[in-house]
Amino acid sequence: MTTEETIDLFDKYVIGNYTRLPRVIVKGEGCYMFDADGNRILDMFPGWAVSAIGHCHPKVVEAIRTQAGELLHIDNTFYSGPQGRLAKLLSERAFGGKSFFCNSGAAANEAALKLARLHTSQQKYKFITAEGSFHGRTFATLTATAQPKHHEGLLPLLPGFVYVPFNNIQALEAAFTDEVAAVMVEPIQGEGGINIATKEYLQAIRRLCDENGALVIFDEVQTGIGRTGKWFAYQHFGIEPDIMTMAKALGGGVAIGAMMAKEEVAASLVPGKHATTFGGSALVCAAAVAVIEAIEEEKLLENAINIGQYAKDKLDQLKQKHSIIDHVRGVGLMIGLQLNTPGAEIVDKCLQNGLRINCTQGTVLRLMPPMIVNKSQIDQAIDILDNVLTEGQK
Ligand SMILES: *Cc1c(COP(=O)(O)O)cnc(C)c1O
Repeated sequence: MTTEETIDLFDKYVIGNYTRLPRVIVKGEGCYMFDADGNRILDMFPGWAVSAIGHCHPKVVEAIRTQAGELLHIDNTFYSGPQGRLAKLLSERAFGGKSFFCNSGAAANEAALKLARLHTSQQKYKFITAEGSFHGRTFATLTATAQPKHHEGLLPLLPGFVYVPFNNIQALEAAFTDEVAAVMVEPIQGEGGINIATKEYLQAIRRLCDENGALVIFDEVQTGIGRTGKWFAYQHFGIEPDIMTMAKALGGGVAIGAMMAKEEVAASLVPGKHATTFGGSALVCAAAVAVIEAIEEEKLLENAINIGQYAKDKLDQLKQKHSIIDHVRGVGLMIGLQLNTPGAEIVDKCLQNGLRINCTQGTVLRLMPPMIVNKSQIDQAIDILDNVLTEGQK
């Protein structure tokens, strides 16, 4: 099938709710993807942060092949090995919590919100979330997403959500009442533009929740599973949540989400209160186990820190050369370039030159390279970006 034929199929049969770039991707391998016209693209935003240890990581592919030969899916009426093994690996790498498995980031956040209401007293029903947040597209997680542009045309939303400006402790204090069940935040806002929480802010959330009998929920759907150089971003700040969600990178390319909760909180999720048919299937859990093992065996957390710093230094140098870059911010391999002009055209031009990056919030170029990336691939990416920015000035 040619590129034109495939695009034609989409025009006729696939709902047009995505803005798609005119490329048909047929293969992924490590830091690269290949389109139907034979072009190789250096992928610095693989699978929207899903393929975080690179496309088709051999260990993940092998684990999927093996598991597929034994058992794809068994419903949660029964026990199965991969789900149990994955829960253990996650617990040991986080705060010793227990996990519930689902199939997306939004579903993990839904579970977190439901658990927070179930666990706290009945008068507690409010959720505080931060402006610029992104928590998903289901009605509850869309309501939690404190960005009016995502709400347009969908009102009324769910009652009980209160929005506060991100990183503003005073506003948080002012919003707190004894009706608050939980505060949900991303330690580093992703879609919101790589906005990093201050340690003081997360400490204030922890303190206010403790004082008011509310729960801290960290949404680590984008930051979790090593992206920032630690297993979870909250570990940079030394503040533990009661509930944490993850998804994107967890399955290495297959659909899985997880909500983890401290044991005493998790105990409130009893049979009948929550479920999802596909959750924790043997296939996806086997893939996620392989992701965690690969990160460990290949020392990818260290790589995320080292190469992340290398990339940030290089991008800081690029900023000296191009006044369009206001500043660079990020942690590990989660990097944003704040521009002082719109960035969409730069993303398009980079792709034409064989580099995939992303732009969020109009003016933030987002780079989330796979954790297996090396210095020469970062150099290549920055060379392409440099050329595109130079062209743009002419
Ligand atoms: C992507 C994302 C979500 C939503 O995940 P889906 O799998 O698209 O439902 C939620 N929270 C954060 C922080 C995300 O980046």
